[in-house]
Amino acid sequence: MSNHVVLTGDRPTGCLHLGHYVGSLKNRISLQEKYDCFIMVADIQALSDNFDNPKKLAENITEVCKDYLSVGIDPQKCTIFIQSLVPELFELSTYYLNLISVSRLERNPTVKSELKQKSFSSSITAGFLAYPVSQTADITAFKGTLIPVGEDQLPLIEITNEIVRKFNKTYNTDVLLEAAPVLGKVQRLVGIDGKAKASKSLNNAIFLSDSSELIRQKIHSMYTDPSHIKVSDPGKVKGNVVFDYLDAFFDDKNELDSLKLQYKKGGLGDSVLKSILNDNLQNFLKPIREKRDSISDKVVFNILYEGSKIARKVAKETLSQVKDAMGLVYKYD
Ligand code: ATP
Ligand code: MG
Repeated sequence: MSNHVVLTGDRPTGCLHLGHYVGSLKNRISLQEKYDCFIMVADIQALSDNFDNPKKLAENITEVCKDYLSVGIDPQKCTIFIQSLVPELFELSTYYLNLISVSRLERNPTVKSELKQKSFSSSITAGFLAYPVSQTADITAFKGTLIPVGEDQLPLIEITNEIVRKFNKTYNTDVLLEAAPVLGKVQRLVGIDGKAKASKSLNNAIFLSDSSELIRQKIHSMYTDPSHIKVSDPGKVKGNVVFDYLDAFFDDKNELDSLKLQYKKGGLGDSVLKSILNDNLQNFLKPIREKRDSISDKVVFNILYEGSKIARKVAKETLSQVKDAMGLVYKYD
């Protein structure tokens, strides 16, 4: 067994959806068998664009943790914790803020595209601009080297590694480790509305906890090919959300190839195609939903509380190594 450490997390801005599953959760489930795993519910990061609604975040912490357990993340194998219960992370962030320029943070494509979608109309807050620095603290506090994430996180991991190199060089140390992303089979699942990314905040996703009826309705509303009007019309597969979801979740590739051929040629209607996807996703999500319904809040609180205690111990140790490396150790006796 190598000594990799897995670190990843999710913002408690809502329940987790199919994009999270293919982008990150699925990899976590296999990585937990091999490595030490830390999974963080990133309430403080979520505050950076939800500062006026902390109640929403508090409510969603347990929901996100239930989503973890429902897909098979095992609290015996992973340390699941709440970011704000590990205050050492904020001290690390403060030190790292000196190691990156404002213009570098402004050049971050993820932040740029998120800004377009958020409520900061013309002025971005310092907290939001600097959230990649806080993410660097999260990764380095646990010596995370493998980061299972969706594609939107790649520029953030680049920033982490830049700060790590700058820290190690500036303080002549090797205490911080660089991290590598672990991408899922689908790096960015599209929204059911055809937008580039399914996202909690855009509410354009199928959630792991959605009822069977809601799943059916969402699939029914999916964007297909607007020029495919009559069943006999030839249709487009590219940019067709139903095919994007079938690519992600339909295991029989031969069958899927022949559906694509038939659709392109003409003769396969959207409603038949959607009912194939519906059967597929209902089968996938039913056991997840049933498991989720059986998990009590009390069990979840306990997992988060115990996990946060373990996480804090690890972060404290890293913080003390960081301060040592910086020479921030004052002894006056
Ligand atoms: P928000 O809208 O609040 O930002 P989100 O849906 O983007 O929520 P996050 O909590 O920001 O979810 O992301 C958690 C993890 O899930 C990240 O690693 C992210 O890359 C991944 N992820 C989120 N959405 C998708 C998606 N549509 N496809 C693939 N991965 C995704
Ligand atoms: Mg996001």
